[in-house]
Amino acid sequence: MPGQDAITPPAADGPVIVQCAITGSQPADGRNPNLPRNSNEIADSAVEAWRAGAAMVHIHAREADGTPTSSLERFREIVDRIRATEFDGILNLSTSSAGGITDGPERYECLELEPEVASYDCGTLNFGERIFANPLPFLREMAAAFRERGVRPEIECFEPGHIATALRLRDEGVLEEPLTMQLVLGVVGGSPGTLEQAVHMHSMLPDEVTWFACGIGRSQLPLNLYSLSMGGHLRTGLEDNYYYHRGELAQSNAQLVERLVRLAGETGRPVAGPDEARRLLSLSA
Ligand code: ZN
Repeated sequence: MPGQDAITPPAADGPVIVQCAITGSQPADGRNPNLPRNSNEIADSAVEAWRAGAAMVHIHAREADGTPTSSLERFREIVDRIRATEFDGILNLSTSSAGGITDGPERYECLELEPEVASYDCGTLNFGERIFANPLPFLREMAAAFRERGVRPEIECFEPGHIATALRLRDEGVLEEPLTMQLVLGVVGGSPGTLEQAVHMHSMLPDEVTWFACGIGRSQLPLNLYSLSMGGHLRTGLEDNYYYHRGELAQSNAQLVERLVRLAGETGRPVAGPDEARRLLSLSA
């Protein structure tokens, strides 16, 4: 076709990391019975997601009755069960408040398990009906714990102010480069899950930042496609979205990962295995 050579080349063609967020910090509401709800289910689902192509798994813990928790013992059960398999992916443990309002050191006890990565929520926001408290003094303390343990913070930014906070903490020397950021869009109380918001937040990132973007609910897939097109990395999983298609519940985390592996292949971005993902993130494992 005349003029075809003039088509702008894709913005990105390098390898892409697929991350899977296995279960979240919201109490299980029964809307998707496939959501993992206890240590064994969470670990098994994480290993399945890894087998399906996720180089990184993002883990929240739950008590035996499904209540979200920051308990080191519950995290240990999950991590031990995963490490007892042939899993060689990257563990990313959550330091969220597990649905509570705490901003104390119990939030990041899971760093003791020496994951390669853990989430670092870079600012306070309304999170649904509750306040997710991440004041600056807490963020400085938590960053010190990450540095001591040699764990990479995945800096979760739920709105543009959180990115500005991350860059301020970088300038203070609290957050060390290289920075890894997760743009989380679509949380009620954070930035809406629109492409316009993704473009805006993405535009605030320094070039050298390695970034993922994820969207909650129906914004999951559009934001995956945005990241795929723009050189970002991908996060899917039942934590963020219960559905596969509108009105059709996802059967498993692995099913959501498999879709992204197919889409990445179609767009010419090879899916990174765990070691390639470590290289892309400059993890020193
Ligand atoms: Zn999470």
